[in-house]
Amino acid sequence: MKTETRNGSGGQSASRGHVKAAGWGKGLSILTRITVMALRHPFQSALAIGATLIASGFQLMIPKLLGRAIDEAQGIGAGGSVGTAAQDALLVTALLLLAASILRGLFTMVQNYYSEAVGHHIGYELRLACYEKIQRLSFSFHDSVHSGDLITIGLLDLEGVRMYFSTALVRMIFLSVLIGLGAYLLLSTDVVLGLLALSFVPFVGWRSSVTQLRLRATWLDLQERLQVLTRVMEENLGGIRVVRAFAAQQHELEKFDAASKSALELAHQRVGIRVANTSAMTLSFFAAMGLVLYVGGGKVMAGEITVGTLASFLTFMTILQMPVRQLGLMVNAFARASTCGARLFGLLDLDVAVKDAPDARPLQLTEGTLRFENVAFAYPASPDTPALDGVSFEARRGQTIGIVGPPGSGKSTLAHLIARFYDVSGGRITLDGQDIRSVTLKSLRRSVVVVQQDSFLFTTTIENNIAYGDPWAKENQISRAAESAQLHNYVLGLPASYGTVVGERGVSLSGGQRQRLSIARAVMLKPAVMVFDDSTAAIDAATEQRIRHAMRRYASERVTIIVAHRLSSLMHADHILFMEDGRIVEEGSHEELLARNGRYRALYDLQVRPGDDALTG
Ligand code: ADP
Repeated sequence: MKTETRNGSGGQSASRGHVKAAGWGKGLSILTRITVMALRHPFQSALAIGATLIASGFQLMIPKLLGRAIDEAQGIGAGGSVGTAAQDALLVTALLLLAASILRGLFTMVQNYYSEAVGHHIGYELRLACYEKIQRLSFSFHDSVHSGDLITIGLLDLEGVRMYFSTALVRMIFLSVLIGLGAYLLLSTDVVLGLLALSFVPFVGWRSSVTQLRLRATWLDLQERLQVLTRVMEENLGGIRVVRAFAAQQHELEKFDAASKSALELAHQRVGIRVANTSAMTLSFFAAMGLVLYVGGGKVMAGEITVGTLASFLTFMTILQMPVRQLGLMVNAFARASTCGARLFGLLDLDVAVKDAPDARPLQLTEGTLRFENVAFAYPASPDTPALDGVSFEARRGQTIGIVGPPGSGKSTLAHLIARFYDVSGGRITLDGQDIRSVTLKSLRRSVVVVQQDSFLFTTTIENNIAYGDPWAKENQISRAAESAQLHNYVLGLPASYGTVVGERGVSLSGGQRQRLSIARAVMLKPAVMVFDDSTAAIDAATEQRIRHAMRRYASERVTIIVAHRLSSLMHADHILFMEDGRIVEEGSHEELLARNGRYRALYDLQVRPGDDALTG
């Protein structure tokens, strides 16, 4: 089983750029896996394949019947009948022809419907599996993969796999029957004419496959160039203020033009490939037809075959032309399913790094005590540089722990380890004596809530955003949480109050308001451990103090961890840890740390003027 991260031992990425085209053996096993998925819908698959066989049978009857009709019209039908008898025979053949065409059409409909249906079922199952996997993959994976790559796997690659059943497998059955049985019928009627009629098949099949594979390669290239175009546009829109402020429109336009030109060149190249090959294939088809006409016409004149037989040869060639031209599409569909499947299954087969242990039990909370015991941690991206080293502390219910230190000292890392976003590399973290790796993730994440630095809002109402973790929450619970986060009065002033839609497509909130909404969202859950990861940085000190005041009782019932840059955010904490290079270098209460005259004191002198203590409440 592959590991979830790219950089760990045996690490493997699911990103597009890093998965090479599957080798033959691997490609075959991927295609087998998709076929097995299709066969899990036996009724639909059987109908699709059965209808394909029947439709190709009827398709093959048409040239035969046409030839027979022509012969009968000339009075040289099977019985050599003339007059009314010949007319009757012609009518019967015409009706048979009509019936064969209708039945062919009907069975083709059944084939198309059920082969597409199987594809859509596979698409649905894979889409769900992908989404579920992405939800479960841990942060170390998301750290290493661009979210755009995941979206591409979930959309484009999934489409390649979904199309496999209808455009590769069923089409292959259809083409095999049509060409195989058709060749037999032609050759058994007249070997020379049969060979001439089939002479265009290898050339067209080869050209079509080569063209489609070349078009596929350039298509992938084109997608990459279009992605560059999208990125330039995204950056331009995102940074529009910077662009205008620095009068860099011309520079931006040139960047966009360069990306756009490179996409245009490739598009031209693609048109060239397609047009040249279409003409070559058509030429070879008509050349073969000319040969059949010439040699067949001679045979008709020599009385070796009838005009009807010659006509059936020509009709057969016309019928065969389209599917043979589509051979390339089929080859392409196989190639596409194999590479897309490699990436998609690569993602689905990743082993989730942070998951429930086999014997995991729900967390049992009693005292509500959190302990770090000699915790060490290194990110998979830089295994040799520990982000945390030898961190030990204890926090009991009702206590507030402040964590401060220079940027990069490991504060956020410490906060994330409590919710088990990553697993510790050494030591252990316990909640009421239970190692957090031994309890179920669901129960842990109900008991530990991290209010992040970046407050993410979903495009929905304020009410739904606050109640995200508890969809059954009552209105008064939501407004009470908003009151604690000092958001209630602001919400009442909005046009639709708690029903106001926020997020990218709704009312935009300021950084501080977003943070207050995140705090309200976390407060709703009443966790045993509440972690604020620099989540009040955009809130002014006075409002922050009011929040702290409103949450005083709330804080007395749980462990509160406050990570902050601003000392005034955590000076009131019962215990403060000063971090540097992943280690606790000083700890104690505010007064104790001041008295030590160390790093904390230096930071205090830098940030807080004497007399400002009143701010901290
Ligand atoms: P702080 O919160 O104190 O600013 P962090 O905990 O964010 O510090 O970071 C501690 C160290 O870990 C830094 O050296 C940082 O570069 C590194 N780091 C943080 N996040 C990641 C990540 N997702 N992947 C790899 N390294 C990281």
